[in-house]
Amino acid sequence: MTETIVSGFRPTGKLHLGHLHGTLTNWVRLQESYRCFFFVADWHALTTGNVTAATIRESTEEMVIDWLSVGLDPAKSVIFRQSDVKEHAELHLIFSMITPTPWLIRNPTVKEQARELGFIQSDDEAEVTKINYGLLGYPVLQTADILMYKAQRVPVGVDQVPHIEISREIARRFNNMYREIFPEPQPLLTEIPKIPGIDGRKMSKSYGNAVILSEPPADVDAKLSRMATDPRRARRRDPGEPADCPAFNLHRLYCTAEEIEFVSKGCRTADIGCLDCKKVMIRHVLEDLEKFREKRLYWEQHRDEVRDVLVEGGHKARAAAVETMIEVRDVVGV
Ligand code: SF4
Repeated sequence: MTETIVSGFRPTGKLHLGHLHGTLTNWVRLQESYRCFFFVADWHALTTGNVTAATIRESTEEMVIDWLSVGLDPAKSVIFRQSDVKEHAELHLIFSMITPTPWLIRNPTVKEQARELGFIQSDDEAEVTKINYGLLGYPVLQTADILMYKAQRVPVGVDQVPHIEISREIARRFNNMYREIFPEPQPLLTEIPKIPGIDGRKMSKSYGNAVILSEPPADVDAKLSRMATDPRRARRRDPGEPADCPAFNLHRLYCTAEEIEFVSKGCRTADIGCLDCKKVMIRHVLEDLEKFREKRLYWEQHRDEVRDVLVEGGHKARAAAVETMIEVRDVVGV
């Protein structure tokens, strides 16, 4: 039997190279061998309270255009907007009735996010009570998203494994309390290549260091040309070490074996300068993004089709969700 996968993305802005290599390339691969549900997590975008209605609306369509342009195929994957399937909210409510708060309070990812957003200063119990329920409880909503389609697998990076553990615990508790309805979803661990931002920190829109997939080639070129390098190469004649160079992570992804050997040797002997070295990689990034841009242009000019993809996907997702909720309502008695 083909296993089911569920995954989503919050519509909070434009997608960047980190999203492409961290998630989207993997989704495109997975749709070939799994029954896939990929959703725009617009309710999740509300959990942090810092995203405007306009951003959510605009990003939803733009994000789906990005998905289609990288190769997600609505004939192979169900692509939908979370809020179009109200059953997710109902299942979230039912799961919230059986989820002990300590399971949520001890979740390290939620606390880390709350700290980053400035909602809390530390992991102390008193601090954690300052977190809104929506944020504290988003693993419960996430569980509803996953179990609604009885997904056996959830593609995640190592840092998101605690979330899936909560989903497994909720599924187990529900099945024990009522009847065996849900599988216990397993993480489908994804090797995520390191894609630092142009300043060398993790690529993130909030750090302002991201290379946006849809930005003009000249801007991509300019950003990558000034990307952080091994600090040992402060002067042109100073040798460096590619393993300590943020830009070299992109060489690893985009360049041929011969090019990697050439720039690695040139770096260690100071035979090439950083700009020349980066040019080798930038050429490939631009070529790759050019293919993406051509496809994106098509979808930008056919926005009605993009909206149809979401409507169609919503119908398919809802049909599956209705089936699940008939079983759930029956066993809980509502
Ligand atoms: S030469 Fe290349 S690999 Fe070496 S530090 Fe400069 S950009 Fe990085």
